[in-house]
Amino acid sequence: MKLTILGSGTAAPLLERNNSGYMLEADGKKFLLDSGAGITRRLLELKFNLFDIGHIFYTHLHNDHINDLGAIIWGNNYGGKRKKALNLYGPKGFKKYFRILNNKLLQKPKSPFGINIKELKNSKIKIGNVNVTTNQIKHSSTTKSIAYRFEHKGKSCVYASDSEYCSETIKAAENADVLLIECSFPNKVEGHLTPSLAGKIASKANVKVLILTHFYPEVLKTDIVKQCRKTFDGKIVLASDKMKVNV
Ligand SMILES: [Zn+2]
Ligand SMILES: [Zn+2]
Repeated sequence: MKLTILGSGTAAPLLERNNSGYMLEADGKKFLLDSGAGITRRLLELKFNLFDIGHIFYTHLHNDHINDLGAIIWGNNYGGKRKKALNLYGPKGFKKYFRILNNKLLQKPKSPFGINIKELKNSKIKIGNVNVTTNQIKHSSTTKSIAYRFEHKGKSCVYASDSEYCSETIKAAENADVLLIECSFPNKVEGHLTPSLAGKIASKANVKVLILTHFYPEVLKTDIVKQCRKTFDGKIVLASDKMKVNV
């Protein structure tokens, strides 16, 4: 599998770090993981074709993770170029979110190509030869998020996105070859992780490679690796936009 960082940023606008978005290529397929504002442009910059993306997985409905869904739908509607269906996955409430976006904001209730929408909690899906396992994890006191685990050819990549420190996220990341997870702030904030808490999750889950992402400006002013090293002995990678990692 190949993971490309499209956006390692957050809701705080930064020129060099786009809102959340990642591309996972596996089994000849392209899986887009979240699509915050600007991801459509990042896809162009990295020569990904919008019409090749068959599956988009949303962790939660915060704007820095989903804002470009409207741009993606309209981009696909244009010109009759898209021939295959688009499969969208998200947490509870995603269908309602999509209905409002599509019918009220985009005013295009019927798409020229098929759109399939699935709401997920703790589920297992098979897409070609890729096994996708989802776990509901705690983000904030009011928001649940979905952690996605992708397995192909004996390798596993877990995208946990925004998370609170919780047993659900540790379970979702268990024995992963790669864990891609947020480390938003240097000091604990409700609903987010620090570098050392992200490391603690990776340690408890026995993760091999930890990719830290979703950096707010405050955490970028600190020594993220040093903080994370206090709790995690494995390989630490700091995500940056356009970085590619083989899983
Ligand atoms: Zn969030
Ligand atoms: Zn976020």
